[in-house]
Formats: sequence, structure tokens, C-alpha cells
Amino acid sequence: MTLPRPLPLDGNAAAGPLAAVLAGDATTATARCAGCGATAVLATAVVYRTAMGTVVRCASCEQVLAVVVERPAGATVSVRGCAWVRVAG
Ligand SMILES: [Zn+2]
Repeated sequence: MTLPRPLPLDGNAAAGPLAAVLAGDATTATARCAGCGATAVLATAVVYRTAMGTVVRCASCEQVLAVVVERPAGATVSVRGCAWVRVAG
């Protein structure tokens, strides 16, 4: 049985859910490392801050979980090293 595919919407439809996630308290967010599978609150990760940006590494295997680069035009965030991130509601 194939479920009907929902109608596609433009990116504006994701604004509400993304705003709710991005406005959450990042220190209490939980992330799963895509490298080793460890799951932990972000506050326990290892962070390196330099003039280039902020690098967040897994405390278990040292894989890069997230990178934040802040520029005058805005911030760029990559969470490529996370299998998922959960922000408490
Ligand atoms: Zn890891």
C-alpha cells in the first residue's frame, strides 16, 4: 500500500517549525553523533572557539558535530556531524 504523497509547499512552510527549533535553549539540546552514535546534551560536547568560528566536537569520538561561522551578513550553521538534534519543547 502506498500512502498519498503530500502536496509540496515552498520553504516558507518550514519557517514556523524551524523558528521553534532555533529559538530553543541550545545548552539543553540533545544530539546524536553521526560518527559513533553517542547521544548527549550539547553542553557536554567539546567546543573550540577561534576567530574563524566555533567548532563543536563529540566528547566520545571527537568527530565534528557542528560548526558555526558568524559574519556581519549573518551566521552559518552546519550540524552535518549530528544524526539528529532534539531541542526540548
Ligand atoms: Zn561521536
